Amino acid sequence: MSQVLVIDHDKKPLHPVHPGRARFLLSAGHAAVYRRYPFVIILKEAKPDAQPEPLRVKIDPGSQTTGLAVVNDATGEVVWAAELSHRGQQVKEALDTRRAQRRGRRQRHTRYRQPRYDNRTRSEGWLPPSLNSRIQNVVTWVERLQRSAPIESISFELVRFDMQLIEHPDISGIEYQQGTLAGWESREYLLLKWGYRCAYCHKEATRWEIDHIIPRSRGGSNRVSNLALSCHDCNQEKGDRTAEEYGHPDIQLEAKKPLKDAAAVNSSRWALYKRLKQIGLPIEIGTGGRTKWNRTQRELPKAHWIDAACVGQSTPDAITIQGIVPLLIKAMGRQRRQMCLPDAYGFPRTRGKGKSLVHGFRTGDMAKAVIPTGTKVGTYVGRVAVRETGSFNITTAAGTIQGLNARHFMAIHRVDGYSYQNGQSA
Ligand SMILES: [Zn+2]
Repeated sequence: MSQVLVIDHDKKPLHPVHPGRARFLLSAGHAAVYRRYPFVIILKEAKPDAQPEPLRVKIDPGSQTTGLAVVNDATGEVVWAAELSHRGQQVKEALDTRRAQRRGRRQRHTRYRQPRYDNRTRSEGWLPPSLNSRIQNVVTWVERLQRSAPIESISFELVRFDMQLIEHPDISGIEYQQGTLAGWESREYLLLKWGYRCAYCHKEATRWEIDHIIPRSRGGSNRVSNLALSCHDCNQEKGDRTAEEYGHPDIQLEAKKPLKDAAAVNSSRWALYKRLKQIGLPIEIGTGGRTKWNRTQRELPKAHWIDAACVGQSTPDAITIQGIVPLLIKAMGRQRRQMCLPDAYGFPRTRGKGKSLVHGFRTGDMAKAVIPTGTKVGTYVGRVAVRETGSFNITTAAGTIQGLNARHFMAIHRVDGYSYQNGQSA
């Protein structure tokens, strides 16, 4: 069950409680709702002596979606989970558009202008804006959780696989089906090395098999230098021939070359790792191979937040995920620079930007609209888009409903750069 985060009167994080307990505290007047997303209640008295059990926030970073899970290591319970969707691609597109528009504007006037490169310095530690936005999203959420839950440590999936573990010569049973950690690490390595393609036919298969370039039956070893990624058909067809006999002498050479470090280490994860270290909590490093292995060993389904819960060596033997509803967080950005919308020829098509605050609402606020009569009768909970006329739109999980009168709206969470929905219950 997803638990409810609790802080005391002095905003000190306490141990999260069962939703039923939270409901009781709220209805008995012992607590009030502090925040909707994530849902946090605040007690009406201080608890200076409380010793909450330490929790761990676990992060599975992705380029589009990052999984977040708060786990109680002692009980193996997932306390809270979320999936955070980034807007890296949007940031990139916005910058590309801006660049094109500026260039167009310069070219329109044919007079030659010397380039001005005197204002083009990049500060130390500069990151591309799309990447920076992802990093900021994760750091923002770790810090938000830290304010509402007794988080004492972080687990973070930094690298795809553990080079030391797979370089070790005595790995037996490399077949990942046999479920050794080293096998999983090797599989991650091979996927990356062979670029998610069958080494023989270059097909992108759905089920991978691990092929011994010199077969085991003919004295081939289990070392990664003797392994290639293969689809089922090629693996069957090859049988007990070596890659050379099968007509692929290049593969034997290819497999001997170690994967370049640059390919194995993802620069954005390192940047995020450095930024997370500044938070000051102890960080445990996990590998992608171990995450998958942990999840498979515990027979858990695949989801970003479940992967997050499985990051690292500290993962408890049994993880309880029943009834967890992950919060789906989507980074939306805050407003935009564009003053009005242009038509196809670049002329202003609309009026300039209106006021951002309309009848007490801003675009991006999460709100509840109760429409008593008419064709749009019903209750809607979602993200508001305001219009100066007082006729608002609301975007719910089911879609956008247009033209609702502002007087029917009740704010539940003020705009903070993200939109929220509840995910599927586990
Ligand atoms: Zn193949």
